[in-house]
Amino acid sequence: MAIRQLSETIINRIAAGEVIERPASVVKELVENALDAGARRIEVATAGGGLTLIRVIDDGTGIPAEELPLAVARHCTSKLSDDINDIRSLGFRGEALPSIGSVARLALRSRTADADSGAEIVLEGGRAGPVRPVAANRGTTVEVRDLFFATPARLKFMKGTRAEASAITEVVKRIALAFPAVRFTLSGTDRTTLDLPAVPADGEGLRLRLAQILGREFPENALPIEAEREGVALSGYVSIPSFSRGNALHQFAYVNGRPVRDKLIAGAIRGAYMDVLPRDRHAVTALFLSLNPALVDVNVHPAKADVRFRDPGLVRGLIVGAIRQALEAGGIRASTTGAA
Ligand code: ADP
Ligand code: MG
Repeated sequence: MAIRQLSETIINRIAAGEVIERPASVVKELVENALDAGARRIEVATAGGGLTLIRVIDDGTGIPAEELPLAVARHCTSKLSDDINDIRSLGFRGEALPSIGSVARLALRSRTADADSGAEIVLEGGRAGPVRPVAANRGTTVEVRDLFFATPARLKFMKGTRAEASAITEVVKRIALAFPAVRFTLSGTDRTTLDLPAVPADGEGLRLRLAQILGREFPENALPIEAEREGVALSGYVSIPSFSRGNALHQFAYVNGRPVRDKLIAGAIRGAYMDVLPRDRHAVTALFLSLNPALVDVNVHPAKADVRFRDPGLVRGLIVGAIRQALEAGGIRASTTGAA
């Protein structure tokens, strides 16, 4: 067969395979977009575990009508200039909306503050329709229906509506922890799963948001973390050893506000608790790293949850040192916990 260029639709479906693994990935991308647009209030509604419907409503800046076709076109973004080393937004790849619209039915409705009315564009299985005027409040509403209808092979891998719904809840919680000043609501077909009122964007606000998400007992059983080394700042809370869990699902980590799953951070936490927790127990943690964007690469995987630090040893040392110090200041020693 001769070499030829793939069609735009196929290219987008291939990208969608990496960016959009399951309904929770759609929610993650849409909520990130809302946050990048400065939203103070984000409403997520789903049906059928997100496979039937995902709707995200925000009160952010909105998209001008004439830019709607670009918003759903591949590699089009308002966030990245020409410097891949200076990423300050959650998005930067310009792939989420075209990817979603290539495997689902996507309607993007938006209105900016200075527009008299809203506008909408629809993208179905990769085909974009015309921009139409619609009534809309300021902000953006994205509706995604029939996820993966265009890629039945992927649809077969879904775990059932309940499992997908709970993955969506986890994603919203994970992001919401880093944005206490934003109100988040999440509802399923017949009930509200999450309602997180906005709290102040300070230390006290963070404690309140932690209590909303991890339970009221968490802040009462947690130690504050505050440390800085060579321009890398670390803050957050870690649980006392007696408030541990049987898995590491409740270890939340953020790099410049971006939720990440990082082996280095997980390993550092394990190392810090080594003397005070048995191997099969895991601390509950919420750690926020902030550093110059040039010192961390977030462009490792299309889902943007992996990072590479320029100086991994520094980050590991900072985390281990800060947690150990907090445990010590809290009077926690190996002998008092019964850990080997
Ligand atoms: P990226 O977030 O990487 O830029 P997306 O495909 O997610 O790529 O979005 C494309 C563009 O559409 C964004 O750069 C932004 O300009 C616009 N956009 C998407 N969602 C929103 C939103 N909720 N509010 C305002 N603008 C949005
Ligand atoms: Mg995006």
